[in-house]
Amino acid sequence: MTERVGIGLDIGGTKVLGAVVSAQGEVLTECRVPSPTSTWAHLLAAIEASVTELRGSHPGVESVGIGAAGMVDLDGSIHYSPNVPAFRSTRVRADVEAAVGLPTTVDNDANVAAYAEVRFGAAAGMTDAMVITLGTGIGGGIIVGGAVLRGANGFAAEVGHFQVDPNGPPCACGEIGHWEAMASGTALGVMARAAAERGELASALALAGGAVEAITGQHVSEAARGGAADALTVIDAYGGNVAVGLVGLANIFDPGVIAIAGGIVNDGDLYLEPIRRHFLGHIEGASYRPRPEIVPATLGERAGVIGAAILALDHQRSVSAGSQ
Ligand SMILES: [Zn+2]
Repeated sequence: MTERVGIGLDIGGTKVLGAVVSAQGEVLTECRVPSPTSTWAHLLAAIEASVTELRGSHPGVESVGIGAAGMVDLDGSIHYSPNVPAFRSTRVRADVEAAVGLPTTVDNDANVAAYAEVRFGAAAGMTDAMVITLGTGIGGGIIVGGAVLRGANGFAAEVGHFQVDPNGPPCACGEIGHWEAMASGTALGVMARAAAERGELASALALAGGAVEAITGQHVSEAARGGAADALTVIDAYGGNVAVGLVGLANIFDPGVIAIAGGIVNDGDLYLEPIRRHFLGHIEGASYRPRPEIVPATLGERAGVIGAAILALDHQRSVSAGSQ
């Protein structure tokens, strides 16, 4: 029996990353093209070209799975995407399926990445897990009973957007004190510049050439790796902000593993240790329960294509099983 293979596409604001992926989660072939995000016609043409190229090397592909940043409904239409203007009430699944002639599924990029980590990555073997990406914002996928939590409309797991501090900073979505505004990678830089403004972060300020506005999260990491106590203090406070959101989510969803993705995991335990310590200090019944592990995500930038391809293959399998 030949191995089942499918195409996964990860559509971002700057590029379309495509891959042929086996049912075992191996990436067999990759292709990468710039994503023309201004109109759907141009983006659809780029998607079609990617699929044609990938199919050339693996004619037996069964399906196309797409992961894209944005609000993806249960029918695979994308209602809105902050970085891709082509996605405005766009019938992505139906149009791609018609253009390429393969069964197609579409889900949010964070959901497909979470599915990949649960099937083949940091949370492999878990039926209940969360994958949280601390980047420009906070993205997340929640796996419940082995399936991606999608909600009534497909818009569930917008994990960055719940309030953790009514007096906190404004969020990109317009609300106040959302977790994303306090614990994203962007928020780390904001916290660092505020600390330097108060005269509390001389180490990172020196690395930034003495200009407060030039301080980034990377400067904090670099100073902390050198042992600077003032940088470790900022990281501890940031870890507390990350943990407060994780505690709320873990109390609600009871994950076996929480995998963290984003630049900070490149520093190993530098950030994860304070996050774990604050988390265990606040999760309900910490002494009387199995403690969810907090681990780095392992699939990196390929999580999106792997998860998208596998979701589509799994969907095809359940459709064909249902028709027998
Ligand atoms: Zn928000």
